[in-house]
Amino acid sequence: MNQKVLILFIALFTGFAALAQNDYLDADAEDVEKTYIGGEGHDVKTYPQTFKAKKPKNVIFFIADGMSLPHLHAALTANKGNLFIENLKYMGLVKTHSADRYITDSAAAGTAFSTGTKTYSGAIGVDVNKKPIKTILEEAEEKGLATGLVSTSSITHATPASFIAHQESRNMYEEIAADFLKTDIDVFIGGGYKHFTERKDGRNLVEELKQKGYRVEQDINTIKNVKEGKLAGLTASEHNGRMDERGNMLPVATNTAINILSNNKKGFFLMVEGSQVDWGGHAGSTIYVVEDMLDIDRAIGKALEFAAQNKETLVIVTSDHETGGMTILDGNYETGMVKGEFTTGGHTGIMVPVMAYGPGAEQFTGIMDNTDIHNRIRKLLLGN
Ligand code: MG
Ligand code: ZN
Repeated sequence: MNQKVLILFIALFTGFAALAQNDYLDADAEDVEKTYIGGEGHDVKTYPQTFKAKKPKNVIFFIADGMSLPHLHAALTANKGNLFIENLKYMGLVKTHSADRYITDSAAAGTAFSTGTKTYSGAIGVDVNKKPIKTILEEAEEKGLATGLVSTSSITHATPASFIAHQESRNMYEEIAADFLKTDIDVFIGGGYKHFTERKDGRNLVEELKQKGYRVEQDINTIKNVKEGKLAGLTASEHNGRMDERGNMLPVATNTAINILSNNKKGFFLMVEGSQVDWGGHAGSTIYVVEDMLDIDRAIGKALEFAAQNKETLVIVTSDHETGGMTILDGNYETGMVKGEFTTGGHTGIMVPVMAYGPGAEQFTGIMDNTDIHNRIRKLLLGN
């Protein structure tokens, strides 16, 4: 072997070795997202299980978009064995399929919760024939109850939209925003400012909201001081950022909505969505899933604090579907470390948990359909 060939071999070998090294590093970088290394977590409280009546005056309905047992258990491990959610002693499992798909999307699942009707994937508050169906929020409003929506995504995104809008596609954000003006919703807090202002039809819905008597605010630090009246909180142009950017927006918004809605003596219906558990699942990121599960747990803590004192409030926590085909491969209750794995970048058809606290909570046990959740809330809150 002459020297030149030898040098070429060495160069090639070093090159391959470097490449292999980089491949390894890249694989490792991906794995980094799959392990939540642990953190401080939050303190949780145990609340009494004594209530005033058999039926609730108020319902606070939480949707952790994309959550099933692995996401919940990841958060439980990350928070070193305790969550506010554990105050919800009555539990069941929910079948999530839509009218046309074994594996649903958030629009059809949201519409099942809001109307009690299975519809096609992508539908917002309409049935399989694209006919509008009155939502529980609209019915509560008709009965004189106060109503609210809170979300970490745009407030026009599929989950919150399905409680207030009637459109044949979840992508019709501007039409969905305009549907907010057709209701008398008392409070909504989420992203989506641009869908109210930068519109093809030239309407400025923020101005229209103000004319309808809404206070419109964009800063969560201003929003949190609002105690009464009608409030439109649009905290981002589109979606709110991840935890490091949006901070405690969700627990603060939840608390603010409860403050305002609880002024109504007839009661209230509030839906709160932790939108981004789903996005963590799509991204195959245990870190993202854990951060957003802990975030919604703190928001649930705010609801429980009110409900425990009020004693006439039913708090329900569930999900629209599972995302990521997540499982847990390792964890540590002392450090909060949790190692997840994901089997898909999409949704799966597995059942999701439903948990409840307060008067009527015992109704949410066993295996049920997502439409049953609507029917039970409606019977308990509206009496039919
Ligand atoms: Mg959602
Ligand atoms: Zn999703």
